Parts: sequence; C-alpha cells; structure tokens
Amino acid sequence: MSIAAEVRNTAGMAKMKVTVIGGQGAWPTADAGCSGYLVEASGQRILMDPGWATFQGLLRLADPLEIDAVLVSHSHPDHCADLLPLLRSRALSEPAADPLPVYAPAGALDHLLASDAVGAVQRAADLRVVSDGSKVRMGEFDAAFAELPHHVTNLGVRLSAEGTSVSYTGDGGPDAAVVELAADADLHIAEATFAEPITGEDAGLLTDLATAVEQGAAAGARQVLLTHLWPGASYDEIVQERYGHSSPLVAVARAGMTWQAPA
Ligand SMILES: [Zn+2]
Repeated sequence: MSIAAEVRNTAGMAKMKVTVIGGQGAWPTADAGCSGYLVEASGQRILMDPGWATFQGLLRLADPLEIDAVLVSHSHPDHCADLLPLLRSRALSEPAADPLPVYAPAGALDHLLASDAVGAVQRAADLRVVSDGSKVRMGEFDAAFAELPHHVTNLGVRLSAEGTSVSYTGDGGPDAAVVELAADADLHIAEATFAEPITGEDAGLLTDLATAVEQGAAAGARQVLLTHLWPGASYDEIVQERYGHSSPLVAVARAGMTWQAPA
C-alpha cells in the first residue's frame, strides 16, 4: 500500500475531513491547482487558501453556496486568486448568497478584490482581519492563527473540531512557531516547496522537504502532509525512501487526496 493510500485509509468514523484541492506551489500544473484545502466537520465547510486554479476542483467537492468560511494565509496569488470566482458564483447567483466570511491578514486581499470592479463581488466577502495570535470561533471550529516567516505577512492556522486538530502553514520558513502551531496535531499540512535545502532569497522564508518533516516530528504531529510542491519536482521517491516507515507518517499532497480523522 502506498503511503498516500495509507493516509486515505485511516478513516474510521467520519469526523474531521480534509480534501486536497490542489497542492502545487508557485503555479498550477495540468493535473493540480495551487494551494487549496477543504476542511469539513459537523456539516460545516471551511476553505483554506483558494489558490490559483482551485475553484474547479472545489466545484467537484462542494456547492460554492455551501462554503461557510474562507481562510487566506497570505496575499500571494497561488494562495488566494480563486477567491474571485468563488465570490462571483455566490454574488451573481439568484438569489445572491449571504456575504462569505473571509479571514485574512490586514490588506492581503486589497489588490485582488480591487481587480474585480463588480460591486456585487466586492459585497460578497465579509472580510475579517486576523493576525498573529488571533483566535476565532467559527461554528464548531476553533481557529488559531500564527505568523510564520515569509516574503509577506503569512498566517499559519490550526483548526480544531470534534477533538481533532489540523495545522496548516500556508507558506512559512522554519520557525519555532511552526512547531508550536502543529503541536500534537492529528494532521500537519506543511509547505515543503523544495526537495533540496534552500539557498538564495527564499532561504528562511520557505521550507525544504526534510525540514518540513523534522518540524512535524518535533511537534509530535501524527501525520505530515507535504504540500506547495514545486511544479515538476518529484517528491514521492524521496519520501518513500527516507520516510517510508517513519513516524510521523509522511505523505505528499495530491489533488483529490482525502484525510479523515481517526475514530
Ligand atoms: Zn507565498
């Protein structure tokens, strides 16, 4: 059984469920969009990062009118660009949907929203600014935000519901805050943009594969899902070779992959 299949099959009774809509970093590929994860529990649906080319994948999983909230980690378009089609689909439907709660760092969506001059689209988002240390209750979900090092303000988030916790870095360089965010998480979704150690301007602001796994292990996360993968790079062989039998269980994000909380 492949590691990915093992991750998919950890389902016991359905509790919190996470579906990878896209796991590509930088730009989408023919097979996968950029960052986008649908988190479901107790009939609620939270969309984490509506990145480039994730809206069509979202449509295959849920009715846009049934999304309860959106979390945006940061302003880079591979993490937020497809908020626009989501808002359009809600604003221009008959009748129009209620404004969608969108949690994001201050100013992160200003340029994106300004690029769509349709007034109804502007009104379709109920923007809620969050920052390092913010804690928010969203129905059955508790969300805790932590700033992680990146080129722009980037908020990782930890979502808890029904006794299960899932952490997600957005984009974030190695930092003690990542380990804190992922402490004892059932699933840690970790940006691992590069398969090899990072040099140059991204050093400290993005994370390589080995460091992402190390941080997940240091946090005591049960499973680490590596994501934000550089288009074209091959992660599966490396992960199988290095972490095939390790703890925590390590998997590589693929569009359509589903994780469910253990019973
Ligand atoms: Zn980024």
